[in-house]
Amino acid sequence: MRKIIKNANIILEDRIINNGSLIFSEAEAEIEKVAAYNLSEEAEMEVIDARGGYLAPGMIDTHIHGGGGFDTMDASAEALNKISKVLASHGVTSFLPTTMTMARDKIQAALQNIRQAKKEGTDGAQVLGTHVEGPFISPDYIGAQNSENLIKPELELLRDFYDVVEIVTMAPEVEGALALIEELNEHKITASAGHSAATYEEFQQAYQAGMDHFTHLYNAMTGLHHRKPGLVGAAFDSEATVELIVDLIHHHQAVDRFTIQAKGVDRVILVSDGMEATGLEEGEYELGGQKVIVKDGAARLESGVLAGSVLTLDQAVRNLLEVTDLTVPEIFRMVTLNPAEKLNLAHKLGRLKSGYQADLVLFDQNFKVQKTFVKGKEIRQ
Ligand SMILES: [Zn+2]
Repeated sequence: MRKIIKNANIILEDRIINNGSLIFSEAEAEIEKVAAYNLSEEAEMEVIDARGGYLAPGMIDTHIHGGGGFDTMDASAEALNKISKVLASHGVTSFLPTTMTMARDKIQAALQNIRQAKKEGTDGAQVLGTHVEGPFISPDYIGAQNSENLIKPELELLRDFYDVVEIVTMAPEVEGALALIEELNEHKITASAGHSAATYEEFQQAYQAGMDHFTHLYNAMTGLHHRKPGLVGAAFDSEATVELIVDLIHHHQAVDRFTIQAKGVDRVILVSDGMEATGLEEGEYELGGQKVIVKDGAARLESGVLAGSVLTLDQAVRNLLEVTDLTVPEIFRMVTLNPAEKLNLAHKLGRLKSGYQADLVLFDQNFKVQKTFVKGKEIRQ
């Protein structure tokens, strides 16, 4: 069926079309036409009135562990399906289920399950591949990962899964890391610095080997000192992209502002780092086999260490609208086109443009999600 959305503020890369319209097809799963006026509907077209709300490309979450009571490490179709539906209800149309530092066989079971979900599809946001967070990380910046299963970089663990692995978060200073970074780079897989004690100098070597991304910048890495710039300094002194968790808990809002200003809106990718409590009430949960307490919007281990978040990308967008002077297209770039570019999918995802996949989110005027379409199909909860 062909559908038309009318009376929408359509968010493009560099501007907003006020009172525009967009035609898309569920059968073709594609956007047909975007217009700066209200196109006239044809017979048998479903008409959707946006009532002056905003229409954006579907958001892409490249770092998300769980939601709705399930975790990627559950390694079940049911888990990924539930997570996919929670995400869709928040305007996310595709994602990278993210693994944790656990035993080798558990990680591989999760990867196997992700491969299956990518092939067979889910009822909500689509699985594009996976982000592997650990186990090749530093014991000194363990965060909420489990140190018992931490291992040195080895090429064999992920080699059979290069068809689904998109991002690997690892500590570049650990013995064996450079060889792995080079191999990932050859397979167009992003090596991302995170959970790492690397110095500024150690990162330079990794950068030469192809590491060009930072996992949840600031959290679980060497900070900025004016004589020891660390990984944070290296992030600002390179062309690498950075993940940012804008829940206003992982860092101060001033840090969100200057990070985006210094890196530029095309170098920042907003992520949720969401765990299984995402979309549920506050209380006791689990992340990577450890107890997590969710209270006042923060997820923490019993020790008080932050353990992912219960953030969703629609909330991250609203947070940035509130605490920055960025324009709406600038903010949306960081949840749509930038992740699409990182995943080499910007030719079909991340833009509202004819020929692009019909992954769409319709917001009201306050940026609350009204409808989400994945490949042209409306996802109902
Ligand atoms: Zn994470």
